[in-house]
Amino acid sequence: MKPKSQSFLRELLRNELSKCVKCGSCMAFCPVFRHQTQESSTMRGKIALLQALEEGRELPEAKIAQILSRCLGCLNCKNSCPNGVDVSRLSILARLLLSRGKFSDWHGAALDAGYHFRMFRKISLLALPLAIHKEKALGSTKIIKSIFRRFVDSLSKNDPPNLDLEGKTIVFPGCVLEQNSERLGNLLKVVSALAPGVVIAKNLGCCATPVLGIPDFSLHSMIVKKLFLNFKRAKPARILVACPTCLYGFRYLSFLYDLSPDESRILEISGDLYSFLSESDWKPKNRISGSYTFHDPCHQARGLGIFSAPRVLLKKALHETLRESYKEGSCCGFGGIFTIRHPAISAAIREQRVEQLLKTGAETTITSCWTCLESLGLPLSQKGAKTLHILDLLAKVV
Ligand code: SF4
Ligand code: SF4
Repeated sequence: MKPKSQSFLRELLRNELSKCVKCGSCMAFCPVFRHQTQESSTMRGKIALLQALEEGRELPEAKIAQILSRCLGCLNCKNSCPNGVDVSRLSILARLLLSRGKFSDWHGAALDAGYHFRMFRKISLLALPLAIHKEKALGSTKIIKSIFRRFVDSLSKNDPPNLDLEGKTIVFPGCVLEQNSERLGNLLKVVSALAPGVVIAKNLGCCATPVLGIPDFSLHSMIVKKLFLNFKRAKPARILVACPTCLYGFRYLSFLYDLSPDESRILEISGDLYSFLSESDWKPKNRISGSYTFHDPCHQARGLGIFSAPRVLLKKALHETLRESYKEGSCCGFGGIFTIRHPAISAAIREQRVEQLLKTGAETTITSCWTCLESLGLPLSQKGAKTLHILDLLAKVV
């Protein structure tokens, strides 16, 4: 796995920029633009800035980093763009090429440090609800209990990677799920019932996708190389990824790196866990009563184009028909480091999404992303509604 040359990446950036005809179709669906109506908050504005830089205009680096950071990565603009401008590709390339490995602010430096030190990474995952909700989280006993449980989990010994997986179909859980013993137990229950013979692979490593939010190529390649080395050693026949963000990140590896045939094969055999499970002929032992809606995570719905798989599973598990709440532009407001860099906009977007979900009248919101769950859990609970991860719900009926 060798990073592509700077000149190659620069050419890719130019190509992506040249696709934009400045039609403005992307603006209407941008949640950030809805709350901060500056042209530079939209993809069109960011593209104009990047083109000016490409043409040689001098602009302060901190200002560029600030403008580029005003993006949730929700992919609404990608889906609404008639010319198929790939916002993820643009953002990753712009950050990598313009930053030259420097951090524009303490947020990037803190995330960098978090990834370098394993224990610090555990602590940052542990404190995720605090980072999202600030002091509000301290008043929530549910969150404090969950942080305490995570703390206990984080102290547990790090087992060596499970590499006895040759020829097997495996589930790659991703860091957030892997560090929560209760959720990992539910994943195991669901997979054992819906896909017997499939094995949960533990401690293989991190997908490194969040690192693409800070511009550090060497850190990203170090983390992702370690994961791919473990995949290569384990030789699974198929990899089912439980986290939509991990799988979405995998899709961007082949344009950032020259991959060996073994590494390309790993990407070819990697797919979405929920799509796989939705094809199972499993029938639940019982069905769950109550009213439910589903929050589509950005990377799953717009990034990977997966809408029906979670709905197929929920149709089997629920008594009542799912109350739909998908809307163009819907995002939980988290956006990785966006929530720390722009807490007020993040909170406003979250509130708007909470209102959309409450309007369905559903008692419980289900989602398939752990961070969406963290983001929406507290404000929904304050309004008397519940949240649940789809795996936790399925574990109740298997
Ligand atoms: S990815 Fe989302 S937040 Fe970022 S510019 Fe596009 S629509 Fe706006
Ligand atoms: S919709 Fe696409 S082509 Fe139109 S302004 Fe936005 S990025 Fe450019």
